[in-house]
Amino acid sequence: MSNTQHPLKTAAIPSTTPATWLGVMGGGQLGRMFAHAAQSLGFKVAVLEAEQDCPAGQVADLHIHAGYTDEDGLAQLGGLCAAVTTEFENVSAVSLATLAEQTFVAPAASGVSIAQDRIAEKQFFTDCSLLSGVQPAPHRIIATAADIDAIPAELLPGILKTVRMGYDGKGQVRVRSIEDVRGAFADMQGVTCILEKMLPLAYEVSVLVARGADGQAVVYPIAENVHRDGILFTTMVPGPNVSAASAKQAQDAALAIIARLDYVGVLCIEFFVLQDGALVVNEMAPRPHNSGHYSIDACITSQFEQQVRAMARLPLGDVRQHSFAVMLNILGDVWFDDDSVAAREPAWEKILALPGAHLHLYGKAEARRARKMGHITFVAESMQQAQQQFAAACTILGIAQ
Ligand code: ATP
Ligand code: MG
Repeated sequence: MSNTQHPLKTAAIPSTTPATWLGVMGGGQLGRMFAHAAQSLGFKVAVLEAEQDCPAGQVADLHIHAGYTDEDGLAQLGGLCAAVTTEFENVSAVSLATLAEQTFVAPAASGVSIAQDRIAEKQFFTDCSLLSGVQPAPHRIIATAADIDAIPAELLPGILKTVRMGYDGKGQVRVRSIEDVRGAFADMQGVTCILEKMLPLAYEVSVLVARGADGQAVVYPIAENVHRDGILFTTMVPGPNVSAASAKQAQDAALAIIARLDYVGVLCIEFFVLQDGALVVNEMAPRPHNSGHYSIDACITSQFEQQVRAMARLPLGDVRQHSFAVMLNILGDVWFDDDSVAAREPAWEKILALPGAHLHLYGKAEARRARKMGHITFVAESMQQAQQQFAAACTILGIAQ
């Protein structure tokens, strides 16, 4: 600890001698972009991650090779760092609580554990709905065969989701009948699930919100997201379909939710906008989010710099967006021609020739289909221009639109 005062009360101020360290649990691309932001503010960054060659480990000042529950690894991270955050949603809340005995942890274990569990998350959204003005999708907990027998007809067709460890559409099955639910639940091998009513979505949006330890919060513009095969495909900001009224409603809801959670750090909340215009809250990620990557190139303060500021208890940054933005996720698929098994490098030089293209590659050695390898953000003076560059990039990379 470079500060001699109590770590929970003092801001972590960048310093060279001695260095001020910030820590991150997890070695993926979110940790890598977090490290870039922290380092550019003058912090040193330590990453706790068991995997040897990983996106965040490659750029960290220190890579502690240990699992997220490893006592020695946690002690080393907590002892060195003025504050610790997590880039990986499913990191054990117990580990975060252990770290909090040694240093400042943001977000805290309490908020992360709600986001890790769809039952706790939906309960929280319901409890908070008077303040936020939004409800989650109608749902039921499915833990036993008797729960399936008791499913009300109006919940079908629906989506059966595992309560824990779901991401990128994994751990989800669409179901039309009670028989479908029985089959899908059996396939989940006894883990507790939630059955959600299938809602008529018009489009999906997400709201990034950040809150400091002093309770001040900031909210970013509304991002409109398109998923493909359960994985985020593209994000457009500001969302072209989003009315000013829906945007304000979602932003106000996000501010109410983050305050109620008493949360410190960056939080991303996903909403559905239904065909009748109603707003439904879906889920939240207790960290910077894929749909917020545009903020690196299109906002005054990126979501990663905001996470640094919040955890370091420094003033939060300006969230203003200075350019229209379209973000395209780059999956490993673009390394392969149709049904070819040999990977080849995509034509990045052609991408970089497009005006307003910002390429971000995550340093992953092996391209695999459906694996997030990087993203491109197209910034422009109009949404139409940004969309044109996005379309040109899809053509270059062989991505169907
Ligand atoms: P991720 O972590 O990648 O955001 P996830 O696997 O945790 O996703 P959800 O966000 O809950 O899961 O669902 C994935 C996608 O499935 C949503 O973005 C939406 O397109 C669709 N979906 C989920 N729930 C519903 C619902 N109740 N009605 C209609 N569509 C839904
Ligand atoms: Mg989601």
